[in-house]
Amino acid sequence: MIRWVWGLIAASLLMAVGVIFVQRSSIALSLYQRGVERNLAQPSMDDLGEGLHAAFCGTGSPIADRRRAGPCFAAIADGRLFVFDVGEGAQETLGIMGLPPARVEAVFLTHFHSDHIDGLGALALQHWAAGAAQAPLQVYGTTGVERIANGFNEAYAIDSGYRMAHHGNDVVPPSGFGIAAHPFELPAPDESAVVYDRDGVRILAFRVSHAPVSEAVGYRIEYQGRSVVVTGDTKKCACVSRAAENADLLASEALQPTMTRILGRAATQNNQTNIAQIMHDIEDYHVTPRQAAEMAQDANVQALALTHLIPPMPLPFLTGPFLGDAREAFNGDIWVMRDGDIVSIAPDGTMTRRNTLRF
Ligand SMILES: [Zn+2]
Ligand SMILES: [Zn+2]
Repeated sequence: MIRWVWGLIAASLLMAVGVIFVQRSSIALSLYQRGVERNLAQPSMDDLGEGLHAAFCGTGSPIADRRRAGPCFAAIADGRLFVFDVGEGAQETLGIMGLPPARVEAVFLTHFHSDHIDGLGALALQHWAAGAAQAPLQVYGTTGVERIANGFNEAYAIDSGYRMAHHGNDVVPPSGFGIAAHPFELPAPDESAVVYDRDGVRILAFRVSHAPVSEAVGYRIEYQGRSVVVTGDTKKCACVSRAAENADLLASEALQPTMTRILGRAATQNNQTNIAQIMHDIEDYHVTPRQAAEMAQDANVQALALTHLIPPMPLPFLTGPFLGDAREAFNGDIWVMRDGDIVSIAPDGTMTRRNTLRF
């Protein structure tokens, strides 16, 4: 009797597995449909609430890393989205973080190293096509940003013709194609210059130290008494501490030389002399986590968020060696950021961090 019951149960399980196997495509499709409906229906940045929000839409560097897009930082205030640098893959990361490229009010470039601009064409296209934009993507930067804009506009000109012919002017208005450049003068050393001031959001640019890139800046974003600062690329510089004074959050680039030297030695052993040379050269125009912590301490910020991480960290426990002794140099929190992280700063200064990646 018991053997008979077990036999029946086994047969039923086998049948169930068989049905699932036969139906697996339709089950997968219905799960897909539910996921897509939930994602498209989900309120996104409007859900973030009051205060100033710092979003990490690309925490990688030029070194290949599938889990981190190229450099990208965003600030959200009053339901408005501002993006700082657009590395490769960053517009996709913005999208899956619930920060629609169509909603980008303005982009600010820290400098024109390729890894900071190579996602710009894709972002401009999504800004236009996904949002039926009436005006181009507004991109601010030091002198030279016009060349960047012209180059991308030319590169995408043929594609724009296809899209308008296919979807019509209501879906992709001709006036919304491409990038409009807003160049500003490099601020004087040790000074911050207001480059954007509208409806309560104020953005200041300040010069950083990234020679031979002479026109490199960082930005300070202010809203309702709260502030975040993004360094762009720099070596350790009092210019950052000064510009970030008493800010809530400092988002700093970081390079860990102990790890880049391991990479460099491995490259040498494998006759990849170019890579070895580059690993050597980049040390002199970036900050170490320890130096970033020192700048954060000097600036008296609440928290330090490390991004533009060099080298990539394929395993989570590598954040320890990456940080080294940085925590000794700063009294506040230090975070090694991941793509999808959002730090929210409430009007009273309370800070919370969470990850928002949806896929
Ligand atoms: Zn860079
Ligand atoms: Zn750079």
